[in-house]
Amino acid sequence: MEGFDIRTLALTSLILCVLLGVGSFVFARVHKSFRGFYQLGIGYFLFAFGFILIALRWHINDFFSIVVANFFIVFGLTLIITGILKFLHYPKQGFIKISSVLLVLFVVLFLYFTYSDENTSARIIVISAFISWQSFFAAYKTYRHVNPFGRVFTRFLAFSCLCSGVSFLARVVITINSAPIDDFMDAGYVHGLSMIAMQLLVITSCLSLSWSAGQELAQKLEIQATIDSLTNLYNRRAFEEFARKEINRAQREQTHVAIILMDIDLFKLVNDIHGHQIGDEVLQEFSQRLTDSLRPYDIVARYGGEEFMLLLPDTNEETAVTIAEKLRIKIAEPVFDVETSPRLEVTASFGVTSIQGTDIDWQQLVGKADHALYEAKNNGRNQVCSN
Ligand code: GH3
Ligand code: MG
Ligand code: MG
Repeated sequence: MEGFDIRTLALTSLILCVLLGVGSFVFARVHKSFRGFYQLGIGYFLFAFGFILIALRWHINDFFSIVVANFFIVFGLTLIITGILKFLHYPKQGFIKISSVLLVLFVVLFLYFTYSDENTSARIIVISAFISWQSFFAAYKTYRHVNPFGRVFTRFLAFSCLCSGVSFLARVVITINSAPIDDFMDAGYVHGLSMIAMQLLVITSCLSLSWSAGQELAQKLEIQATIDSLTNLYNRRAFEEFARKEINRAQREQTHVAIILMDIDLFKLVNDIHGHQIGDEVLQEFSQRLTDSLRPYDIVARYGGEEFMLLLPDTNEETAVTIAEKLRIKIAEPVFDVETSPRLEVTASFGVTSIQGTDIDWQQLVGKADHALYEAKNNGRNQVCSN
């Protein structure tokens, strides 16, 4: 016998598809925010059923071991690609429509080449052509995808889809140019190889989607740990990390670094008069005005409830006071129209301090800015004090 043992390949494919099918269902249940894993799981199970029926070739009738078995495989592949498109947030309607028409055509051709004009080679050509176009389509779509959470994973998937497309196309060409095949179970290397290509496609689709999802989760976690969700500014933890590095650099290079601590004046009144929702919007508008006024290398953070901190590298105290004064004027412009108060205005108080090459540490620096801010509040608010 020449070639791989198709029954053994069908058995390994079966085990693989059952394992990955269960894994995909579990993943879909645990991580509901990721789409496409149910389709992937059902696709793998259909593959598994298809392979069981193929392995039972001489024990069950032709309808099940040929027509149903192969239909399960192509339908399974259609679902796997639908799952991939769903995961990548691609529109999938066009693909489903074309695939549905081709699936009907597939069944008609398979019935014809099984019962009317028994022809194993023709069946191999039909299924290989179907799998080949679907693989090329998936390769193109995944290659084109701009995945902010890990392009390497979708490229990996695109590559394996391409390999599958090429190997099934080769199978079409070789089958057309070879002697008619009487028994698929004893049909030579190229047919076994295309089953291996399918197995690789199953493995890589599952791996690359779950790796990509893992990467997305890790990046979301990183964002949650560093960004304040209301204002989109850095949170205190992230800011302090930047600040410590910047202060070390300033001490090493004997340059200035300044910080400005800001606190919205009488903000409790804004909440009390207009409600918490408007209070939140004021915080967002306040943050927007800060970021709009920054130089590219300045870092701003929401330091507490209505307290903000600005880190200004290479800036001496005099310049920092000038910047704080500009910000104070910008903040005091009317915020936005609300029904109860057409021109809602807020002001803020500013505490400024700076260092240059001394041994001062972060806590001491913040303490000095806090002291200056306290002075600004005590002197009547809406002003800048330095220390
Ligand atoms: P001062 O000028 O002395 O700073 O007065 P203040 O009213 O701003 O200071 P106080 O510390 O008494 O009140 C701060 C208020 O900020 C109370 C709190 O409910 C509000 N606040 C803190 N975080 C948020 C938030 O995320 N959203 C809203 N809407 N309000 C917040
Ligand atoms: Mg405060
Ligand atoms: Mg305040």
